[in-house]
Amino acid sequence: MLSIKNLHASVEDKEILRGINLEVKAGEVHAIMGPNGSGKSTLSSVIAGKEEYTVTDGQILLEGEDIGDFAPEERAHKGVFLSFQYPVEIPGVSVTNFMKTAINETRKAQGHEEMPANEMLKMIREKSELLEIDRKFLSRSLNEGFSGGEKKRNEIFQMAMLEPKLAILDETDSGLDIDALRIVANGVNKLRSEDNAVIVITHYQRLLDYIVPDFVHVLYNGKIVKSGGKELAYELEEKGYDWIKSEN
Ligand code: ADP
Ligand code: MG
Ligand code: MG
Repeated sequence: MLSIKNLHASVEDKEILRGINLEVKAGEVHAIMGPNGSGKSTLSSVIAGKEEYTVTDGQILLEGEDIGDFAPEERAHKGVFLSFQYPVEIPGVSVTNFMKTAINETRKAQGHEEMPANEMLKMIREKSELLEIDRKFLSRSLNEGFSGGEKKRNEIFQMAMLEPKLAILDETDSGLDIDALRIVANGVNKLRSEDNAVIVITHYQRLLDYIVPDFVHVLYNGKIVKSGGKELAYELEEKGYDWIKSEN
């Protein structure tokens, strides 16, 4: 699904990613952990194609295709989803209407016709039931006055509707409460399948109590310095990051 080879990236002439190698196969969930400032959010931004980052070396392949030169929208249309892509508040535009527009724009960019209204409604109904999202929520104005949990619910709903091949959830928000964690975890667990892959980026082990990853990687100083199974997350919980820092 995703193959990252020797990825180097800079921001404002400062090298942040210093040779990342990562293989993510369909059906897998990978967690990327690491101390603050190690480059986790930079990695997700670079995969999504955010323009303030410059790739100076290496490759990002999605299903074998080098997407390194693609604009963020093109990557999204190819099936890359990054959480918090649409954090904007849009008064007067409901969660549902925003979603309809996003879906149809994606389809147009992929050369498909708009989704017929009845099919759209059916999909909205199915996905919202799957994620236990109630109707009242769907008619609220996008992100207006949303709590942390509601923002997460909206984000997971977007992910469910867009059915990405590769979903990257960057859980930067240290203020995530248990409810919000459960919403994210529940959504990921319901949406994970043999046809998609998920990368969960988190500073905290706690999220991984709910989303059980197949692989855990530790990013430190712009490199993946350790990889393992889910037990690595527990080891980090117990020992912190200092031993990683002293080894590298
Ligand atoms: P993490 O998500 O692991 O906490 P980040 O990727 O946010 O780490 O940051 C890694 C380093 O890159 C930090 O030193 C941060 O200050 C720097 N950095 C990230 N994005 C930018 C940016 N847009 N402009 C300047 N520096 C940045
Ligand atoms: Mg940070
Ligand atoms: Mg971050």
